[in-house]
Amino acid sequence: MNALAPLSRNAEPVDGCGSAPVLRERGQHEVFCGLTGIVWLHRKIHDAFFLVVGSRTCAHLIQSAAGVMIFAEPRFATAILDERDLAGIADIDDELDSVVGRLLERRPDIKLLFLVGSCPSEVIKIDLKRAATRQSRLYAPRVRILSYSGSGIETTFTQGEDACLASLAPMLPNEATDAAPSLLVVGALADVVEDQAARLFDALGVAPVKFLPMRHAADLPSVGPKTSYLLAQPFLADTARALELRGAKRIPAPFPLGAEGTTAWLRAAADAFGVSGERFETVTAPGRARAATALARYRAVLSGKRVFLFPDSQLEIPLARFLSRELGMQVVEAGTPYLHRQHLAAELDLLPSTVRLSEGQHVENQLDRCRADRPDIVVCGLGLANPLEAEGITTKWSIELLFTPIQGYDQAGDLAELFARPLVRRARLEV
Ligand code: SF4
Repeated sequence: MNALAPLSRNAEPVDGCGSAPVLRERGQHEVFCGLTGIVWLHRKIHDAFFLVVGSRTCAHLIQSAAGVMIFAEPRFATAILDERDLAGIADIDDELDSVVGRLLERRPDIKLLFLVGSCPSEVIKIDLKRAATRQSRLYAPRVRILSYSGSGIETTFTQGEDACLASLAPMLPNEATDAAPSLLVVGALADVVEDQAARLFDALGVAPVKFLPMRHAADLPSVGPKTSYLLAQPFLADTARALELRGAKRIPAPFPLGAEGTTAWLRAAADAFGVSGERFETVTAPGRARAATALARYRAVLSGKRVFLFPDSQLEIPLARFLSRELGMQVVEAGTPYLHRQHLAAELDLLPSTVRLSEGQHVENQLDRCRADRPDIVVCGLGLANPLEAEGITTKWSIELLFTPIQGYDQAGDLAELFARPLVRRARLEV
């Protein structure tokens, strides 16, 4: 990987986890399904709508994952299969076409509609791809209609975003034959984070820069052999593959968590676009300094604390790197649903070799190891958090890492605070 910018501490290479053994687990999973991604994706693409084709369970999941958000005009809904559908009395294709017709008639603001598949066997039987093609013919060019699966049988919760973006990849326009080399940043970032990154790339002279997902359906970024893409999220294996089929090339980099991750992420792009080291130092110095100041406050609370990460969001490896290298925490285990060695290579090189890595899930075995390790804090899904809290173990919900802006220099302190807050709260309760 590229050399790292000078940082206040711990920037030196470590005896990393690149070739460390990985505990592979196959057993019961305790994770949300891919429908959860709708909760952050619907905020990102401002004129998109996500129509889940599913059951009441699916409707409850996205409603409760979205919390108590009330919108005059929501951007997601569930077409619930009723008794007639399940009994095979109704023609499901006709029912779906009629739901989509009513929705698009009532909501002229929708420019991109995703039909999102789910688990019920009746849904699995529906060819949503064909339905999307059929409906696209009816509503083009006003509305583009795509489909992907958020089913819990096929996806864990961040894979919903991967499936959504992968469905967009074939729709992206071809870059012009005389196009200049361009950068495509891939993965949903909060608008505030995206704006900060755009300003930094601009100051570095990296241009043109485009983002996927885009904020508006009409702004689909073009792609082709002169496109270099930089992943902003570590869970986008299918999207990466789909972009490469279009000729785009990946810029290998760690992920922009913490000051070190953000610097290495920006530097990978800067190197690919021939930015001088001097310019890079000048442009990134203020951000690095702000992040270093923000992190110093939390290091006092977190340094030396032991953390156990259950496999959930696929953010676990970059998080483990951030927590250990920038906050001095001791990562006892970093579990991830999938270990994408290529996309995580730069992260694994930076992770201390003392970290136990696990891939996949066998929740009972993991709980046993966690109890034996007695960590100070556990990062896990909502389903495990309550029982662990009841046992006196402090937890952090991994889903918050997707709902909170955490990438970039100016969010490094907020990311650290997510871990410091529950520890401080427990310490207060114990006084
Ligand atoms: S898609 Fe499957 S796992 Fe997800 S809420 Fe619906 S039924 Fe449950």
